Amino acid sequence: MLHKKHINFFKKLLPENFVFSERGDCWAYGYDNSKMHVVPECVLFANDKLQIQSIVKYCFENNIPITTRGRGTGNTGGSVPIDKSIVLSLEKMNKILNIDIKNRFCEVQPGVINKELQKELKKENFFWGPDPSSQDYSTIGGNIANNSAGPRAIKYGTPRDNILGLEFISGIGEIYKTGVKTSKGVVGLDLTRLFTGSEGILGILTEATLKILPCNNAIKTVEITFDSVADASQTIINLMSQPITPYKLEFIDGESIKLINTIKTDHYDTSIKSAILLEIDGELEYIDLMLNKVIKVIKEGNFNNIKIADNKDEIEKLWSARKSLSPALREIGGYKINEDIVVPISNLTNLLNSLEEISKKYNIKIVNFGHAGNGNIHVNLLFKTKEEKETDNSKKCLEEIFDLVLRLNGTLSGEHGIGIIKKQYIEKEINKDTLVLMKKIKEQFDPKNILNPNKSI
Ligand SMILES: Cc1cc2nc3c(=O)[nH]c(=O)nc-3n(C[C@H](O)[C@H](O)[C@H](O)COP(=O)(O)OP(=O)(O)OC[C@H]3O[C@@H](n4cnc5c(N)ncnc54)[C@H](O)[C@@H]3O)c2cc1C
Repeated sequence: MLHKKHINFFKKLLPENFVFSERGDCWAYGYDNSKMHVVPECVLFANDKLQIQSIVKYCFENNIPITTRGRGTGNTGGSVPIDKSIVLSLEKMNKILNIDIKNRFCEVQPGVINKELQKELKKENFFWGPDPSSQDYSTIGGNIANNSAGPRAIKYGTPRDNILGLEFISGIGEIYKTGVKTSKGVVGLDLTRLFTGSEGILGILTEATLKILPCNNAIKTVEITFDSVADASQTIINLMSQPITPYKLEFIDGESIKLINTIKTDHYDTSIKSAILLEIDGELEYIDLMLNKVIKVIKEGNFNNIKIADNKDEIEKLWSARKSLSPALREIGGYKINEDIVVPISNLTNLLNSLEEISKKYNIKIVNFGHAGNGNIHVNLLFKTKEEKETDNSKKCLEEIFDLVLRLNGTLSGEHGIGIIKKQYIEKEINKDTLVLMKKIKEQFDPKNILNPNKSI
């Protein structure tokens, strides 16, 4: 139980309505998209880094754990306040501080919503690379903490490729600045990349300098269907082996196609076993030339049909099929385990064939789709009941999938992170000595382990 004196301290420190301690008020700050829910005893808001510094210094003195929260859209419990943590919500730290077109960067507070930033940048005909599907709701702070990205990561990268510098507050309340405001720089250790993707365990991000890029003025969208998964994965490999890097390259398997057909009747012919949605971007005067080159590469492999979207409606129709997958998974009801593994794309065929065998072996329906150009596949194990999801059979099935991914030189998470949900599997990928080193690094940033304790590593 959090002592009343702590709540009184926070109430004196922060502006009115920046401290919640009623259970009803705190309820919505206890869960994320992992569906885990722990109601915190206290939720704090801050709109200034000095407030955060005072909060951390007080929590350090009084051994109070802090869970930093963006908008709680994470998939692995990262912002769920376990271990009697208070929640520090950064949703009010939502200012875009500066957009510097000449030097190609912008400076933002962590609570800025990704989409809001993209809207402001678009006015200047620029954008920030990372585009997670949650971009309408998720914050830049959450995106950086989880290294979150979306379909265009294949060409424009993840936050790790798109950040110049950061400002953060450590677990003892010191304010640190990392990185540069230049496009080159090699002074000191690269703490910016260390912090990015560290899931809030090293510090509380208070400001970020983001690398921005000019928008291309033309995009072409193509849907390719296949009679087998192997034909699709070979085409993905062929596309990644030629010089025109796709803007987006999304894959869906046969089970995904069946699912799409249940809610978007006859979008695909029933004989289709997989599909790719491909986009390329470029300057208007060159885009058709680029498209022709890419189509030539596709035609070198086996395919069923190639559809080039000619207008806005057709583009929307093609994307609406891909985007209907997550809602469709929700609509069919039941329970799922949703993983986001990655393999080198030359191992995609092997991965997808083996997943089909694992699905048969454990009698569990598996639906696969995702950002194929990065080899990042969302593997969804579907169950009718909660009990079915929690059987030894499903656990063994998941273990076998993870072992397969690691054998194929892959990684257990491309974008969701470890959080709480995947912590039990981290030792499969990272050896003990390396984990010890990582924990020692955390100790330097957060000696009392008060920032997101017991998560990630
Ligand atoms: C519908 C949907 C679609 C999604 N699509 C994608 C996708 O395409 N790609 C993808 O990568 N992810 C996706 N996600 C996952 C999620 O949206 C991302 O992880 C997102 O970046 C989380 O942002 P958030 O603001 O909600 O952060 P939260 O969920 O609140 O927090 C996530 C983690 O970041 C930490 N954190 C937050 N702010 C800070 C800060 N200022 N300083 C330090 N640590 C901080 C938290 O402690 C927590 O560990 C999706 C989620 C949903 C619900």
